[in-house]
Amino acid sequence: MGIENQQLHVVFFPYLGHGHMIPILDIAKLFVARNVKTTIITTPLNAPTFTKTIETYNKRGPNPLMNLEIFTFPSREVGLPEGCENLQQAGALGVIPLFFKAGELLREQLEKFLEASRPDCLVADMFFTWATESSAKFNIPRIVFHGYGFFALCAKEIERVHKPFKTVSSDDEAVILPRLPHEVKMTRLQVSKEEWSDEDNEFNRRSARIKESEVESYGVIVNSFYELEPDYADFFRKELGRRAWHVGPVSLCTRGTQDKVNEHECLEWLNSKKHASVVYICFGSIAHYLAPQLTEIAKALEGSRQNFIWVVRNRDHGNAEEWLPQGFEQRTKGRGLIIRGWAPQVLILMHEAVGAFVTHCGWNSTLEGISAGVPMVTWPVFAEQFYNEKLVTEILKTGVPVGAKRWSRVASIEDLINQDAIEKALKEIMVGEKGPEMRNRAKKLKEMAWRAVEERGSSYNDLNSLINELRNNCT
Ligand code: UDP
Repeated sequence: MGIENQQLHVVFFPYLGHGHMIPILDIAKLFVARNVKTTIITTPLNAPTFTKTIETYNKRGPNPLMNLEIFTFPSREVGLPEGCENLQQAGALGVIPLFFKAGELLREQLEKFLEASRPDCLVADMFFTWATESSAKFNIPRIVFHGYGFFALCAKEIERVHKPFKTVSSDDEAVILPRLPHEVKMTRLQVSKEEWSDEDNEFNRRSARIKESEVESYGVIVNSFYELEPDYADFFRKELGRRAWHVGPVSLCTRGTQDKVNEHECLEWLNSKKHASVVYICFGSIAHYLAPQLTEIAKALEGSRQNFIWVVRNRDHGNAEEWLPQGFEQRTKGRGLIIRGWAPQVLILMHEAVGAFVTHCGWNSTLEGISAGVPMVTWPVFAEQFYNEKLVTEILKTGVPVGAKRWSRVASIEDLINQDAIEKALKEIMVGEKGPEMRNRAKKLKEMAWRAVEERGSSYNDLNSLINELRNNCT
């Protein structure tokens, strides 16, 4: 059999959170489009994220190329409530450490599965730090997926290795992260305390394990495109010495909307709005905002006089009247829409009526905003989100910060951003002097993003070279 026809089998093992599962599903689609057999591993309650797409894809050809493998999730063994199988739920219940512990216990099931199925490659999330060792037992190359872009991968690693915050005298003293291609200044408030403190704590031990398993792995697959952050794509490879393949933006994997059709009423509502006239606000699947913060957002939206779609997740809204200013929905009728629950984000962002995105700077959201050519108001909370803010506001210059200062897993009243700050950032993008410039830059990045995933584009080529390499390995 020729190399091109050899049936490769790649197994994907995403972490159990939307920000990890969504891009992995898109990456699996990209492999399937190149005739690679794929299996995605998940747990019973996370399976619905994948099943519909898998069924649709497998109907397309005689040879089903997308498979799902279900592992049991050891909630009870670690003391998690029954049914808590997702980072989003674990975050809401304040039990993330237990959730991580349960994730560690999936190792045995993975090894049994690898032994029985002998795939040609395992793409496993960074949090499964033991996966490099597990796959090595069966001579299977392990690729790491972080869900970060190159800039955050580089900045975070520089920060971990050089510990620049150890010498500062106060939390808000900005220091330059050494060695990076640009002068990037951060304060230690913008990273987790466990991280800069150099203590021997679980966070630092996990970070060290993540890096060891990354260094020993076959390489890293990155949801980004070269033209977006070329200095950092090079730095990651040349200065940090990692093997990496950039394959994104993976949300563009289906070229438009063929399998992202969604009947959500907000899309029809958007059809009635003018070009670039709507602000879209959504903070991803995990970040939590306090009720008084939601009130400030509501007041800012009203005060800004802009059209808006605001996604408020169920657990945030409680009794609506408690945080929504009285009469808000009547007063903003026709110009604003609140979505309570899950929004079709990629489709909303790609709608031409959307003119700005208020985001928590999760990497998927950030890249989806970039791919849609939409300038952003950045409002990072935790994880690597403060790095993503830096990229957007200082390097790409397609966004303005709302003024979030402190990295925190748990929202605190001291970090409240008031109406004026939110309104100012919104106006700066929607009607401010620098708005058109930012919008132009965002539009150019969008064009580059689409070019990168088209035939002969940089992401298209990089994915092909990874697949060719894997095919060569098994001849
Ligand atoms: N998302 C969505 N609808 C929502 C909220 C989130 O489709 O109402 C998607 C969003 O498009 C993105 C992912 O969920 O692909 C969130 O990932 P991100 O990295 O931005 O943030 P996280 O949720 O991991 O903090």
